[in-house]
Formats: sequence, structure tokens, C-alpha cells
Amino acid sequence: MPTTSTEIPAVAPRATTTTEMPATAPLSAATTCPGCGEPLDGRVLLRSHDRLMGGPGDFAVLVCDACGLASTRPRLRPEQFADYYPQTYYPDTAGSFGGLAERARLQAIVRLGPYRTLSRRTPGRMLDVGCGSGELALTFARHGWSVAGVEPSEAAAARAAAGGVEAHCGTLDDAPWQGPTFDAIVFNHSLEHVPDPLASLRQAAALLREGGMLAVAVPNFACWQRRLFGARWFQLDLPRHLQHLETRTLADLFERAGLRPVARTTASMRPALLLSLQYAAFGRVRWNGRGLRLAAWAVAPALWVLDRLGAGDCLHMFAVRGDDRSTTR
Ligand SMILES: [Zn+2]
Repeated sequence: MPTTSTEIPAVAPRATTTTEMPATAPLSAATTCPGCGEPLDGRVLLRSHDRLMGGPGDFAVLVCDACGLASTRPRLRPEQFADYYPQTYYPDTAGSFGGLAERARLQAIVRLGPYRTLSRRTPGRMLDVGCGSGELALTFARHGWSVAGVEPSEAAAARAAAGGVEAHCGTLDDAPWQGPTFDAIVFNHSLEHVPDPLASLRQAAALLREGGMLAVAVPNFACWQRRLFGARWFQLDLPRHLQHLETRTLADLFERAGLRPVARTTASMRPALLLSLQYAAFGRVRWNGRGLRLAAWAVAPALWVLDRLGAGDCLHMFAVRGDDRSTTR
């Protein structure tokens, strides 16, 4: 999944072959909440379309009355993935990873930033679920971790393997590992993409050794940017984001999967604020690339302060399997 990178894919025009959903469509008919399994007949919080890649159709975010989890309706079916996950959605960062700036950025994320809770642990065997081209896993590998990855994109999995990740092209459903195998499992902006997040977390829990740590990063649905921009929040990313998590709903999923939450922090994707402003002004991204990334430094100090206050647009939560309390802070 395109995650730690701040590369923004080339903007596609909105598809004209649309399967527009009437405003009166029974969005929640015959569907259940992916968090608690109860019938999903909650309220529609917002409606939008694929602003990033220009895929067809209109979508809504519903909030479950039973557990509070927000999820997207209608949900993508596997045969629709090609329409919404074009190759440009997976930035080829293989070249940039070798660059000093990109390497330094990933080092900072792992050693000083939101992943420090994990990087302070004794290195062991790590699995990155949705590892993309393997940049995050390989950064951990530089600090002594033995890294494996799961990635549905064939091209991205091949790049990860070429870089040295034990990469499995597929999902956790068909992954080759059995039983407690890993000391750490990471979902770095991938849990919002999986069709059954609770099942995926249970699979991860089964693959974690006793005391092993799970690290999940997702867009923070409770953040001020989402409240301000609503359907034009860049990190909403409909319809690829199937669920929209915040501290409470993610902690609930952890606990249902048998994992104990131990730490939480937030961080911000620096250019996302400027991208949301473009969605608000133009309905789509019209300006990106190096200029955008440079301009994003102007808002970096304010975002840094907001991150310290827990208001960042990315939520990082950590949980452990078993009763290991050594990592709480
Ligand atoms: Zn629910």
C-alpha cells in the first residue's frame, strides 16, 4: 500500500463510465459492520467519490450504531479493484529509497517518530502487512530486524523482494507462515484497505509470538482535518479505504482480536493538508510534485505541535499479545 511515501500519484480525470449510486439507494441493505458484525443501518456521515484516481461511482461513509466504526458503502468487490488500484496508485519509490533524503525521512520515522515504540524493542522477526515496495521493512532491517512482507500488488512485492524483504505476493489469507512466527507485525496504512479488519487482526495475533507487538498506522478519522474538510479530506480516499478508524474503534478491534493496546501517538502526513485544501478549492488535486512537497514544509511547524497534542491526521497504535507490559509508556 502507498504509505510512508509522500509521493502523490498522477491525478486521473474522473471516469465517465460511471455506476452512479442514486442518493436514495439503500446503502446499508443486507450489509453488516466490519467491526462488530451487527447489521449496519447507522447514519450516513458523508458522501464522496474517488477524487484521487478518478474511479467510477459514488460512495458513503456510515457509522455503526452498535460499535461506532465508520465504514464505506458500497464496498469494493475484488473484481472492481483494477478500476480503483491502477499501477500509479503504487509509487515506484525504489529509486528514491536509495536517496539520502528519503532514507533519512524513513530513519526519522522509525527511530524518532511514530515507530519509535517498536524500534526500541530488541530486534527480532518482523512482518509488514501491505509492505508495498518494502521501504519501511528495509529501514527496520537496517536496525537488525529480519523482515518479511505481504503485498497484493505483484509489482510492489517484486520490488520488495529485490530489496531483500522475504515478500509474499498475496494477503494474510494465503500467506505461508503458520503459528507464532513473528516478534512484530506492522500494518502501515493497510488495515483501512482490508475487507475484514477483525479477521486480519486475528490472523496477525495468531502469527505473533507471546509478547510480540502489533503496530498499526491508519488515517485518524477523529482528527481536526477530517472534521474541517469532511468529504474533501485527502486521507478519506474513498472507495479504497473500506473502514475509517479512530482510537476507540481501533482499540476495540485490538481487544476483539485478543491484543492489548499499550501505546498511541499521532503524526501528520505533511502534504496532506495542502492536498485537502485543493480538494476543497477544486474538487481534485491540481498541484503536486516537488513544489507541493517544498510548500508543505511551511505548515510543518504547526503540524508538529498538533501532532504532540494528539491531533495528527495519522493514528499510530501499538498492542501486544499476552501479558508483556514492558513497552507501555
Ligand atoms: Zn459495528
